[in-house]
Amino acid sequence: MSLLSMKSVKKSFDGVEILKGISLEVNEGEILSIIGPSGSGKSTLLRCATLLEDMDDGELDYGGNAVCKSVDGKSVYESQTKLRKISEYFGLVFQNFNLFPHMNVLQNICDAPIRVQKRDKESVKEEAFALLKKMGLEDRAGAYPYQLSGGQSQRVAIARALALNPKILFFDEPTSALDPELTGEVLRVIKSLSDLKIAMVIVTHEMAFAREISDKVIFMSDGIIVEYGTPEEVFASNNERTKNFIGALS
Ligand code: ADP
Ligand code: MG
Repeated sequence: MSLLSMKSVKKSFDGVEILKGISLEVNEGEILSIIGPSGSGKSTLLRCATLLEDMDDGELDYGGNAVCKSVDGKSVYESQTKLRKISEYFGLVFQNFNLFPHMNVLQNICDAPIRVQKRDKESVKEEAFALLKKMGLEDRAGAYPYQLSGGQSQRVAIARALALNPKILFFDEPTSALDPELTGEVLRVIKSLSDLKIAMVIVTHEMAFAREISDKVIFMSDGIIVEYGTPEEVFASNNERTKNFIGALS
């Protein structure tokens, strides 16, 4: 059984269809990259997958637990109680970090595990320090977001998402708000997560990175999946749209 399954997902805004029937699967520990031009619906797809947005039609499932099913051409969602439980499966890292500005680094990481998951304070803190070490930030625990570089902020955001022990982590263009010299440190950290065996769905414009790290790659354009395959398959595609897009960014 797959960890994440999306079937025929459709979503419109103001009568314009943005997602036109998207289907994908992610297995445990697998890394899926999603590439495609701006405006093609990548963020909308992640927002539907992470319950920030309701889809109009289609099905979503985490590890055999249905989030919504398609009934008579419409998605029907499970109860809030079930959805809260299912949302423990995933975490999300945004383009702009979204750290809490009034909390220091350690508080940013520990807040949700302690307050929402009601876990033991001391063990959460211990885990947070281990995560900070993994992110190369062990000396920044007491710093506030305004004292961090963009690359450090994004690494804290990743540690914060990991502290909730998700089985799958979504990244929406995690390096596109960063200066080029800070992109590398964030990409290196994401790459280092592959030994945690956590599944990842990464929307990115970093072609070399996507090619190197991914088990599967999706090329999306205008709300449809144009290519879906291994990096070797997608990056060697003869499709004109795919070739033009990859060519322009490589
Ligand atoms: P991408 O992430 O690939 O750049 P998005 O999913 O952000 O694409 O956006 C796809 C299209 O959907 C864009 O035309 C955008 O303007 C539109 N869109 C996204 N979110 C909303 C919204 N909340 N209301 C209206 N239109 C939206
Ligand atoms: Mg986007």
